[in-house]
Amino acid sequence: MNTFKAPWEYPVKFLKGVGDKLSQLFAKAGIETAWDLFLSVPRTYEDRRRLNTFQEICDAVAQDLRVQARAKVLSIARRGAARRQWTEMLVAVDGKSTDRLTFVFFSDPGRTIEKRYPLDSMVLFRGKIAEFRGRLQITHPELELLDQDVPDWERGIVPVYREVQGLSTRVLRRIVAMGLSRAEFQKIPEALPAEIRARFGFGDLGLALRELHFPKSWEPFPDAKPRGPFFERVVFEELFLMALALHLRRAEWREQSFKIRHLIPKLDVSNGLFDEWISELPFALTDDQRNAMTDIRSDLALGRGDGPMHRLIQGDVGSGKTIVAFLSALTAMQSGFQVAMMAPTELLADQHYQSFVKLFPEFQDSVALLKGALTAKKKKDVRTAVESGTLRFVIGTQALLSDGTLFSRLGLVIIDEQHRFGVEQRLDLRRREDAYFPHLLVMTATPIPRSLALTLYGDLSLTQIRQKPAGRKPIATHLIRQKSKAALEKRIKQFLDDGRQAYLVYPLVEENEDLDLLDVKTAFGEWGNVLAPHPVALLHGKMKSSEKERVMKEFKEGAIRALVSTTVIEVGVDVPNASVIVIEHAERFGLSQLHQLRGRVGRGVAESLCVLVAPDRMSPLVEERLNVLVSSEDGFYIAEKDLDIRGPGEFLGRRQSGLPGFRVAHVLRDVHLMERARDEARAVLEADPELKKPEHRALRNMIQHWWRGRMELTLSG
Ligand code: ADP
Ligand code: MG
Repeated sequence: MNTFKAPWEYPVKFLKGVGDKLSQLFAKAGIETAWDLFLSVPRTYEDRRRLNTFQEICDAVAQDLRVQARAKVLSIARRGAARRQWTEMLVAVDGKSTDRLTFVFFSDPGRTIEKRYPLDSMVLFRGKIAEFRGRLQITHPELELLDQDVPDWERGIVPVYREVQGLSTRVLRRIVAMGLSRAEFQKIPEALPAEIRARFGFGDLGLALRELHFPKSWEPFPDAKPRGPFFERVVFEELFLMALALHLRRAEWREQSFKIRHLIPKLDVSNGLFDEWISELPFALTDDQRNAMTDIRSDLALGRGDGPMHRLIQGDVGSGKTIVAFLSALTAMQSGFQVAMMAPTELLADQHYQSFVKLFPEFQDSVALLKGALTAKKKKDVRTAVESGTLRFVIGTQALLSDGTLFSRLGLVIIDEQHRFGVEQRLDLRRREDAYFPHLLVMTATPIPRSLALTLYGDLSLTQIRQKPAGRKPIATHLIRQKSKAALEKRIKQFLDDGRQAYLVYPLVEENEDLDLLDVKTAFGEWGNVLAPHPVALLHGKMKSSEKERVMKEFKEGAIRALVSTTVIEVGVDVPNASVIVIEHAERFGLSQLHQLRGRVGRGVAESLCVLVAPDRMSPLVEERLNVLVSSEDGFYIAEKDLDIRGPGEFLGRRQSGLPGFRVAHVLRDVHLMERARDEARAVLEADPELKKPEHRALRNMIQHWWRGRMELTLSG
């Protein structure tokens, strides 16, 4: 017997129809409990009640639309030779001799199609219509026999879910429907306090979820995003819980800061040395960089009583965040404290180390790079020097830095371009109870609007760097089709002849890693021929780190002229002389990711070029999406468009954003709701700081279950 009361306590694998394989797929998609599943709201809906006419089906060809209609099976035939066979089904839509349509099925080894759909039977079909060799065709349509029993959840207005690898909308529909109809979920415990529900006019939560997935009492526009009161209620619920969790975390943090105030490093921020460091730089700081330093130095100043620094520096790609990190590091080192700087990849850690030594050679004995490729002895030496305090500045990946490195006087932790950030990393490095409580500086290019950042990360102070360094020219961005590749290749060759350097980037998707890697390697061979005699190199994540480093070094020095690479260069890589980037299969990247990639060029004074290569046949939506990048270089604008077009799920994938993973809320669209949720959460906690009152029991229970893993929150008791 299961004794789970609420859906957030109910593992999704206990739902009917979810076996081992499905539950693994769910886990991959971040769906652990029935609640996670119920909050996976439909992307849109399909109205099964209305069928298309044959004329409409013809018109849909040019529009990339799904169609549905009734049809009569006229013939079924196997085609092709032994190796490559397929089944073709010819049907008539309106019963006239001219309204014919072909269905194609590529894998049908057991001839199930023939067996299931006899000649002359009536079927209901759905799918995307295409024109192939002059005839109308649907590949792998959804088919149902008309006189067959169609389950409830496939009738009327049905949900369409975001495609998750291996989880079809049909399967999700069935599991959600059966889950929602379970007896114990008919009445879902209400976590939102009754008083708030009444004030907002929210009805029953279970009902809201059922209506959201399977509309009965309201009518969504077909092919439109969910909206309306049921939707708003679920969005509010999510935002409210998050706000509550954040408030709790903040309270915890404040309490902790008070206890540790004697352990906050006190730094000397007098001007003399600072001015000296700045005067050594090969460039003048921008006003925004100066302002950032003013903010940071005032956080670090001697005698400050209210907690260690906890600051987020947000600046678009190429805005010059690294130097801000370095100057902050020097400030801490100057006062006798140690600094740890974490980068997301070894490539980046290596680059930071090189540029620090180059900019400030007089500190080269105080800085070390901690990386996987070091011999065990070298690593041990670094660690000993860190422990004894002789080494002041250590740069590395997070894994390496937190792996047994014990700082004796750690004063500042810098986290660069990391998507997950918070107090946890800092605590990782602080193992001894009487150790200093380091200041924290986080650098990110993720475009978080200020109001949102303050709501989400009220415990972080925020500085934005909006200006680009002087003298930067716009990056000319072009969208081209695969068929014009030959002309492009000539052009790139010309650029290299002119002394420029280029990145040639290929996508690498985790699910398809081996094939993608093969693609990149093939491309490397091809580019090598096209661009000869210029030296071209290959760079991807699976290479040994010493190999990667060598390639990067030679590219930076100009010995290698073009780099064929995967997205390993996506974040942070800085080679100012590289002024051309070609991104192949651009349609497979998210806009924000393309923006990050494009940011690899436009870092020097030369004019830069970014070419997005897309397939010859591209849907209007894809084209619209890619054109956003052509028309803008503003990371904020691009992120907003990305959200508009694709929905928050993908933009806020853990990889991209570092924002806690919302399921239904849309960070830009729902800002107003977010502010209200925050105020309500604050009021609840003012009245009941530890959620001990009986009316808050469900709330407390839900927060504990739902947020524990995500927010690293510890609620006592
Ligand atoms: P990001 O903000 O993307 O981390 P970086 O810190 O890598 O950007 O800086 C991008 C490039 O701009 C680097 O080559 C850096 O040396 C250069 N840079 C930084 N600040 C300035 C400045 N004030 N003037 C000119 N160049 C600068
Ligand atoms: Mg950077």
